[in-house]
Amino acid sequence: MSVSVRDALRMAALYLVLSVIWLVVSDQIITRIFDDPVDQFRWLWANDFSWVVISTVLIFVARLRHLRFISAGERVRREDRERLRMAAAVFDSTLEGVLVSDRDGIIVHVNRAFMEITGYQKEEVLGQRPSKFKSGRHDKAFYQQMFATLAEKGEWSGEIWNRRKSGEVYPQWQSICAIRNDSGELTHYVAVFSDISAIKHTERELAHLVHYDPLTGLPNRLLFNDRAAQALTQAQAKKRGCALLLMDLDHFQSINDSLGHNTGDQLLKAVGERLEGLVGAGVTLARLGGDEFAVLAENCPQVGQAAALAQTIIEGFKEPFQLDCHRLFTTVSIGISLFPSDAQSAEQLLRNADSALFKAKQNGRSDYAMYTEELTAHAQQRVETASELRRALQQEELRVYYQPIHDLFSGSMIGVEALVRWQHPQRGLVPPGEFIPVAERTGMIGEIDTWVMRQACQQMVEWQAQGKTLAFVAVNVSSRLFAHRDLYRQVAQVLHETGLSPACLEVEVTESAVMEDPEIALEQLHRLRELGIQLAIDDFGTGYSSLLRLKRLPVQKLKIDQGFVNGLPHDDDDVAIVRVIIALARSMGMKVQAEGIELEEQSRFLLEQECDMGQGYWYGRPVPAQQLRWA
Ligand code: C2E
Ligand code: MG
Ligand code: MG
Repeated sequence: MSVSVRDALRMAALYLVLSVIWLVVSDQIITRIFDDPVDQFRWLWANDFSWVVISTVLIFVARLRHLRFISAGERVRREDRERLRMAAAVFDSTLEGVLVSDRDGIIVHVNRAFMEITGYQKEEVLGQRPSKFKSGRHDKAFYQQMFATLAEKGEWSGEIWNRRKSGEVYPQWQSICAIRNDSGELTHYVAVFSDISAIKHTERELAHLVHYDPLTGLPNRLLFNDRAAQALTQAQAKKRGCALLLMDLDHFQSINDSLGHNTGDQLLKAVGERLEGLVGAGVTLARLGGDEFAVLAENCPQVGQAAALAQTIIEGFKEPFQLDCHRLFTTVSIGISLFPSDAQSAEQLLRNADSALFKAKQNGRSDYAMYTEELTAHAQQRVETASELRRALQQEELRVYYQPIHDLFSGSMIGVEALVRWQHPQRGLVPPGEFIPVAERTGMIGEIDTWVMRQACQQMVEWQAQGKTLAFVAVNVSSRLFAHRDLYRQVAQVLHETGLSPACLEVEVTESAVMEDPEIALEQLHRLRELGIQLAIDDFGTGYSSLLRLKRLPVQKLKIDQGFVNGLPHDDDDVAIVRVIIALARSMGMKVQAEGIELEEQSRFLLEQECDMGQGYWYGRPVPAQQLRWA
């Protein structure tokens, strides 16, 4: 076969062109040439050596040029790969769940967070549709709206409730994006979502904190006011009556002070629980703050119904409260205001209930009182009383009455208690319960108490001069004056002025005054005691004394509150309490005196219990000095 030179050159040119094209389009062949040049040469040698040289030169030239091209291409591809790797890392490590579906909604990809949030593994969801996660919380219209927005705007975001593999329904915040290719065709949907159940939980907790009292779990003042306003609107529309009962624990401050705030908190919690049981469902019970609770009874048209509810609550407090380390008794005072007869708005209803509560407290606690016009008048009278009392002091309208105190063993009168009265020009003889609280609030109490003390000491000196012998005269000191640090100076001054022997003066301080600030009380009592006078704790049994503190007090006598003497000798509780108080006083070397003895059987019972002294109507009412009967 003869080949012309021309043909040979043409073939060579073709071969070269093909080689170059081959080299350019195929990286692999280049790699193969370089990987195994010997094979390549062998292959070329076997075909035609002359072409081997030419083609090798040409390949070399082409390769040099192409290498530059290849290396640039390689760099681009490496950057791409880097970017892809980074995207994949982000995709996988992001806390948001990611779900990619194709344009038919078939899931083609999910990330790690998706699996963590939903509980599904990749294999369980690939090839499925997102409807697999539906919670059933949204209706058809919700999804229609979502797809309409997606179609129109290419994206949708919002809150959606889905279901985890465990079956739990949870809220997620989700953004869905429609992906289109360069020619604008829809290819994929990408959904990115986060689990917002924790946020929702916090939101709920916050809402709870704003509206509920953390200690008792009851609605707080804010929520109560809200509910009261709503209830009144409804009651107005339906022409129904409502009642608001405002409750305040009696002597709660003393419990807090003597047993500590922890115990106080436990008691409040227990009170909340007890109240829930007592008022039942269908009413709003709230803790308004401190020891103040409120009940709103929405369907309570009759005064009697509200009173019955109040009575139930008061009765319900007769059982002790069992706390971690204490068993406590506490009582409650209740003020009642009615809608629409007493007030037209929720605020007014609450204000009126507050005035009624004040009245209940004044009635001697563990009681309820209604808000009425009469009560408002009472409040106004208190204001008048204050200015009149000032005048009474100057014009000497106050009187000191004396109530005999008897030795229960001998039956004879051994002392008297000085009790103040107000001889009012129009109102007649006003009892201390009506003006002492006013005097305490206006600060006039100090003057009154010192005046009474001076009168009593003078009187005692007079009696002694007349040969009428009494062991002591007792005077009351208000907690306000007691808290005053120079009380002892005033007492010393009175003793000095009147010349009465200190041993003949007894100062009565109420148990609650001592417990209001036990440290100051201790200091005050010691100073008074240094003067040589006797000290007694009045109204004992109502102030939650801590025994430890009681032991440290330099006090010689406990006066059993008349509330416990009342029920003697038949009321089992009173019998038990009186016995305990007497035993307690004995163990601490103190004398005991019972107040409010009205019946002979009471005095007999007390004598049997070895109570030392007693006072009460059975022995004699408080009378002016000249009317006192001497045996
Ligand atoms: P208190 O010191 O516990 O006085 C006993 C009260 O019980 C007196 O009331 C007395 O009249 C009354 N009472 C005595 N025996 C009986 C009885 O058998 N049955 C009943 N139901 N009551 C009886 P009063 O005089 O109305 O005094 C009330 C309170 O006013 C006193 O309670 C005392 O805390 C206070 N008070 C009286 N005078 C003064 C005073 O000069 N200064 C101060 N700060 N308070 C005074
Ligand atoms: Mg007294
Ligand atoms: Mg008393």
